[in-house]
Amino acid sequence: MQYLPDKIRPDARHNIIRAASRIVVLTGAGVSAESGVPTFRGDGGLWKSCRAEDLATPEAFARDPRLVWEWYAWRREIVARCSANAAHHAIAKLAATHPETLIVTQNVDGLHSEAAAALGEPGSAPAMPLELHGSLFVIRCTRCAWRRPHREPIDATLHDTLPRCESCGALARPAVVWFGELLNQTELERAFDAARAADVCLVVGTSAVVQPAASIALATLEGGGAIVEVNPTETPLSPHALVSLRDRAALALPDMLL
Ligand code: NAD
Ligand code: ZN
Repeated sequence: MQYLPDKIRPDARHNIIRAASRIVVLTGAGVSAESGVPTFRGDGGLWKSCRAEDLATPEAFARDPRLVWEWYAWRREIVARCSANAAHHAIAKLAATHPETLIVTQNVDGLHSEAAAALGEPGSAPAMPLELHGSLFVIRCTRCAWRRPHREPIDATLHDTLPRCESCGALARPAVVWFGELLNQTELERAFDAARAADVCLVVGTSAVVQPAASIALATLEGGGAIVEVNPTETPLSPHALVSLRDRAALALPDMLL
């Protein structure tokens, strides 16, 4: 018999998500697969024969900021041509109709925000994601607390053309979390608090091998809620999930959530 968490009423088993009031949606690169955003590990994973792990680090930026910015400029151009897909839109609508939803994403592509914006007011606020790994389209100062949204093209031809802090003049960097850097602790706590209190953690398109993704979902389980997973492939979270849908996010989610 499948484990039935305390928070899910027996009569709601057939439609766990719609019956839940507190929901955490945890997403990874797979939710953007059908938007055409390349993954680190797939075909688009290499750039000029450099691996992401060798470029997305504070050491790489300290050594050669121009090279790292050139890579980010290339990624930003690709992602800027991609649009939110049916999965992002279904998740945004879920958040708009269940205001106690928190969308937590590991993605840096900004597509959850695009889907939230497409809702227009008043639904857009609950649909704004907590971007655990930051955003490709925000830059911040390497010295002071300055940061701002930034969609303009980056000129990475010379060190002198790289973006600079508009407050202190120091070099600016992408506001993303690099390998070896800490996540924002306040945001992380918010994600864990929401996950612990959630009836359901809907985990979409994450391999759940990069922490803290897996732990966030397990916090829901510890709090008496359920994990529902949407991923064509099995993950380390699958054995803990009440339901694992082996399907692509853009196909499964509109049916499941709307
Ligand atoms: P991952 O690449 O480790 O795993 C992707 C998961 O998505 C896999 O389990 C795969 O089976 C699944 N998947 C593939 N296609 C899918 C689909 N159509 N529908 C649903 N699931 C699908 O991704 P991750 O777990 O997010 O970890 C990768 C790390 O790399 C993260 O830290 C993230 O910040 C970063 N990253 C982000 C982006 C982005 O912003 N879109 C892209 C690449 C990498
Ligand atoms: Zn500054």
